[in-house]
Amino acid sequence: MTEIINTVHDWRKIINTENLINKNIGFVPTMGALHSGHESLIKKSVLENDKTVVSIYVNPTQFNDPDDLKNYPKTFESDFEMLKKNNVDYLFFPKYGDLYPDNYAYKVTESNFSKILCGAHRPNHFDGVLTVVLKLLNIISPKRAYFGEKDFQQYTLIKEMCKAFFLDVEIIPVSTVRENDGLAMSSRNTLLTEEDRKSAPFFSKLLKSLKSDSEITVELEENGFKVDYIQTISGRRFGAVHLGKVRLIDNVQL
Ligand code: AMP
Repeated sequence: MTEIINTVHDWRKIINTENLINKNIGFVPTMGALHSGHESLIKKSVLENDKTVVSIYVNPTQFNDPDDLKNYPKTFESDFEMLKKNNVDYLFFPKYGDLYPDNYAYKVTESNFSKILCGAHRPNHFDGVLTVVLKLLNIISPKRAYFGEKDFQQYTLIKEMCKAFFLDVEIIPVSTVRENDGLAMSSRNTLLTEEDRKSAPFFSKLLKSLKSDSEITVELEENGFKVDYIQTISGRRFGAVHLGKVRLIDNVQL
C-alpha cells in the first residue's frame, strides 16, 4: 500500500508514530509524469532500503520559462498506479505553501558549476533545484536519495551541496534509461510533435559519436535542432537542444 502524505506535519507524525527512526529510508524526488527512468530510481530505492518515499512536486522556483511550467505534463492517476505496483511506501505530495513558508526568501546558490551548461541558459534554475532538494532532504531525512544521470549536472550539484552543508545522506546516481531508439526518457518527450519525436534520437546518437562538439553542433542545427550547448567536460559530453517548443538534455560518458 502506498500512503499519500500531503504536509510536512503529517510526515513528521509518521516518522514518530510508525517508528521509522531506526529504519533506512530511501527517497526519490520527482516532478511526476513518471516513466521508466523514474521507475528505475524507484526500484533501486525499494531494493536498497526498508522504506521508500517518492515525492511528486512540480517546483515552480526552478522554471525560468512560465510556459514550460504551465505545460508541464501531469499524470497523477498513472503515477500513483506505478508507485503502488512498485511497493513504494509513501508518496509525499506537498503544496507550495508547505515547502515555501518563507515564500522563497531563502535560497541556495552555487557559484561555479551551476553557472555553466544548463545554468548558462536557464537563469536561476539551479537555485530553485538546490533549494527545493535541500528542503525535501531536511523534511524526509532519508539515508539515501536517488538521482538520475540524465540530469548529470543536477546530480553533481546536489551531491556537492550535501557535502558542503554536511547533510547526512548518501546521494546515489542511477544510469540514464533510454527509449529503444536511444532517446533519453523524459516527461517532456510526450510534448514533442510526431515529426520531432522521429528526429529526436539523432541528438543522443550524435552525442556519443566520435565527432567534435562543434561538428555535432553544426550537424544538429542543419537538422532543425536549436542548440543551447554541446560541451565535453572531463570525458563526459553534455548537450541541450530545442525541438519546436520542447527542450531536451542528455549526456554521455565518452
Ligand atoms: P524529474 O521528474 O524530471 O525531476 O526527474 C526526477 C528524477 O528522475 C531525477 O533524478 C532525474 O534525473 C531522474 N530521471 C529522469 N529521467 C530519467 C531517465 N531517463 N533515466 C534515469 N533517470 C531519470
